[in-house]
Amino acid sequence: MKGLLAFAALFVAVLAKDTFEGHQVLRIIAKDVPQLSLIKELEQFTEFELDFWRYVNNVDTPVDIRVPAHSLQYVKRYLETHDIEYSVMIEDLQAMLDEEQQELDSAARSAEFFSTDSFDFSNYHTIDEIYSFQDQLVAENPNLVSKIVIGQSYEGRDLNVLKFSTGGSNRPAIWIDTGLHSREWITHASGLWFAKKIVTDYGRDPALTAVLNQMDIFLEIVTNPDGFVYTHTSNRMWRKTRKPNKGSSCVGVDPNRNWDAGYRGTGSSGNPCSETYYGPSVHSESEVKSIVDFVQSHGNLKAFLSIHSYSQMLLYPYGYTYTPAKDKAELHALAEKAVNDLKSLYGTSYTYGSTIDTIYPASGVTSDWSYDQGIKYSYTFELRDNGRYGFVLPANQILPTAQETWLALLTIFSHVNNNPY
Ligand SMILES: [Zn+2]
Repeated sequence: MKGLLAFAALFVAVLAKDTFEGHQVLRIIAKDVPQLSLIKELEQFTEFELDFWRYVNNVDTPVDIRVPAHSLQYVKRYLETHDIEYSVMIEDLQAMLDEEQQELDSAARSAEFFSTDSFDFSNYHTIDEIYSFQDQLVAENPNLVSKIVIGQSYEGRDLNVLKFSTGGSNRPAIWIDTGLHSREWITHASGLWFAKKIVTDYGRDPALTAVLNQMDIFLEIVTNPDGFVYTHTSNRMWRKTRKPNKGSSCVGVDPNRNWDAGYRGTGSSGNPCSETYYGPSVHSESEVKSIVDFVQSHGNLKAFLSIHSYSQMLLYPYGYTYTPAKDKAELHALAEKAVNDLKSLYGTSYTYGSTIDTIYPASGVTSDWSYDQGIKYSYTFELRDNGRYGFVLPANQILPTAQETWLALLTIFSHVNNNPY
């Protein structure tokens, strides 16, 4: 009987989601560069199973680390021994996730919708809800929106891209992707709102109308569908793709280190168990390769906006080299204007600059690749927040986040439209 119970418990454990009971997120502040290196050295202790939510390579900005219960005592002692200042930012991650799940469940019961007007943008959604929203949006606006399948994910899911176009053939275009890192749920939720905003405002908002009269917009909302499904079914904190790695029990590649731009360089890892694993070869992930093929066959993209969370930053190339991008002055000025417009709505402050100067060296990232392809206006957004909730941003912040981000997007759209190259 005892054996049977143990077996039953194991069975439940296998089916159940990963739990984050007792996990804390620590906010660590380095006083100087040596302390920063000591914090980074924590990564070497693989048995601690630390998850760097935010690592910033400068002393002014805190580092956020998710620490499992079994490592808490060691990590805190390590920090105290080295006289490194820290605070507990999230006391019990699982409690926060339970709250999020409750909200999701109550929203799911009212998820039946017949028109995108009644879609609940103020809640998080499953992939099925997102995909049916996309199809419904296309059905309602056949002259403005279409859906393109640019490939399949590792697990065989369609990689859907919404195309907003008022005509012409192969017009200059703007690319936007959300959800490349699957746990960054605020980005998918914002992407849904942007899609509806575009169809609502076309013909009403002169700025957007002017853009869409000359350019197309491509929007991939669920850019890493396998990872996204996995965040709903198994592990809310999943970031990477879901392709197994040969010779390792660790799954997945960081799809934002897999691009042919300083590939395998500093700020990416060759360890398949790392959250920043660059993968077995360049563009090894079909979620990445499908975008590469699409962009190259299109040949007329003028802006490439890759949307992540969190940290409230607007970043332009480069991440893999200190050599400034040749358009740095213009990219910097436009970033400044975009974040000022974003801030005008709710006072949300963004930092901005090149990736390597603003956060850390990072190699193989999306917007470096797109820039090197000749797409001048290549940016990465890091949406809300600044770490209070991190990746578990409460649903009541979806609308304000999407609305303020839209102002920055519109500023970039108009600039691109007014400065053809
Ligand atoms: Zn990300």
